[in-house]
Amino acid sequence: MRKRILLIYTGGTIGMKKTDKGFTPAPGFLKEALSEISDLARQDFPEWELYEVSPLLDSSNISADEWNGIARVIYESYADYDGFVVLHGTDTMAYTASALSFILSGLDKPVVLTGSQIPLSMLRSDGRENLITSIMIAAEGVVREVSLCFGGRLLRGNRATKMTADGLAAFDSPNYPHLAEVGINIRYNQTAITSGGGKGKLEYRPFSKVPIGVLKIFPGMQFGLFAEIMTEKLSGIVLETFGAGNIPMGDGELLPIIKRAYLAGSVITVCSQCPGGSVTLGAYETSSQLKAVGAVSGLDMTTEAAVAKLYYLFSLGLPTGKIKEYMEKNLRGELTPATDITH
Ligand code: ASP
Repeated sequence: MRKRILLIYTGGTIGMKKTDKGFTPAPGFLKEALSEISDLARQDFPEWELYEVSPLLDSSNISADEWNGIARVIYESYADYDGFVVLHGTDTMAYTASALSFILSGLDKPVVLTGSQIPLSMLRSDGRENLITSIMIAAEGVVREVSLCFGGRLLRGNRATKMTADGLAAFDSPNYPHLAEVGINIRYNQTAITSGGGKGKLEYRPFSKVPIGVLKIFPGMQFGLFAEIMTEKLSGIVLETFGAGNIPMGDGELLPIIKRAYLAGSVITVCSQCPGGSVTLGAYETSSQLKAVGAVSGLDMTTEAAVAKLYYLFSLGLPTGKIKEYMEKNLRGELTPATDITH
């Protein structure tokens, strides 16, 4: 029997139209472009249906409400399809992939995010290949978790990050092996595929509007200027630090600011500006104080995953102490626990 896949179009370049203000998604335009790809109607290709989200968005405009909306469509039609392909803009695809991995717990069917750098309606579009491969991967059902398929790579969704604004292999997951390589065959990396496997009933746990901030550290930063931002008004703060979690000791103002925010209930998570490698608080003097003032290590999580995880844990209404504990624990394959990291 042919597998049934639901294609959820949220917006993004793949279905965009050229206008005098630049590329923008237009209702019905993707459907028209799909009708011109005859391979999508082959008998040896999975059956698929298109669900177009309204309004269609450039993914720069996507927020927690839209993440909840996409997850809800999957949740409500879960029994009717063998897998799901989410067509999405590349700019925030890694955030959405991370968010879906948390909102949908107990997932045991493929949810594959994809899109393109060049619209389907244009001659050299990478959309056709990304779309066909994603639908086939969703139908094969080997990877039953949230993944991201782009430019010949299948990545764990909450490990992926956008690496280039114009290259066609736009995403990578520097801290986690690819789940599959797409060449003449689709070669799955079985040892990297740890999720799925019928762990239980699918649950939908939407995000609420949690105030979250991301702050990138730079040389010579005058932390005093950020004291007004780093308060309990932000429930979760991701600090993008140097290397293995290091901060400039400079004006000495950062640690008291972090301590105040922590004592007032904020969860400060230390991630790295480096795409690869892990945060190790205490490896250098320049990071050793962070833990003492209440920050938690984001270990090898991407900023995208850390942001989504903060949304998730705060939306569950957990006490701050539990949120801190869970930020350093592996919940959906988004991080490598400290004990597994070798230096
Ligand atoms: N700005 C577009 C978006 O993220 C870029 C893309 O789709 O590649 O929606």
